Amino acid sequence: MKAIILFGAPGAGKGTIAEGIKAASPFIHISTGDMLREAVKQGTAVGREAEAYMKRGELVPDATIIRIVEERLDKGGKDDAYMFDGFPRTDAQARLLDESLARRGARLDVVFQLAAPRELLMARLTGRRVCRKCGASYHTINIPPKREGVCDRCGGELYQRPDDQESTILKRLDVYDQQTQGLIQYYAKRGVLVTVDSARPRQDTVAEILRYVQRPAGS
Ligand code: ADP
Ligand code: ZN
Repeated sequence: MKAIILFGAPGAGKGTIAEGIKAASPFIHISTGDMLREAVKQGTAVGREAEAYMKRGELVPDATIIRIVEERLDKGGKDDAYMFDGFPRTDAQARLLDESLARRGARLDVVFQLAAPRELLMARLTGRRVCRKCGASYHTINIPPKREGVCDRCGGELYQRPDDQESTILKRLDVYDQQTQGLIQYYAKRGVLVTVDSARPRQDTVAEILRYVQRPAGS
């Protein structure tokens, strides 16, 4: 089992970049945000607990996050390669991930920090629309669907995530800045942090990440 992490502010493009990497590599995508939104939709115990935090743009408590990630990893095989998206977000989550990987004889390969200026993050988030059915992501200006409000891929209805309202976006960006300084240092010290520019077109960022993960071991 091996693992990489996609780390970046809301709007840095973690989700769409993960899609691009998944299409060209064996990585299994684990997005805690997607898992939580699914739990909210299904009305599970986790979903009922997480919903209010998410609406406010706050982090869901570590214990809940750790539990859903552990449950997911327990289902995996020893040869799996994981790509975490939006996890870990706190020091406690990072430490528990290390323990969990060690217990499974796995290692953390690279942590990719996706960097983009704040104005760009804001513009991306306020215009973001998501398919209710398949989760595909659009943007009112940058990636408009062929028919307004309708998913190109599956015909599903496009909606704006409740936490993509401007005031909640500002809150999420602040939460990100506060909670992640320690994490960046933690991974930088271990020499696994790689910063990639994600203000570029998505395929350029994806290509750069793929060059890292596909290079032969030891180089
Ligand atoms: P974004 O990074 O664009 O805010 P995500 O889909 O990654 O979007 O997360 C949406 C929300 O889900 C977060 O604002 C937070 O409430 C919750 N969440 C997701 N992942 C975590 C995590 N690892 N720890 C705590 N809360 C999380
Ligand atoms: Zn769709």
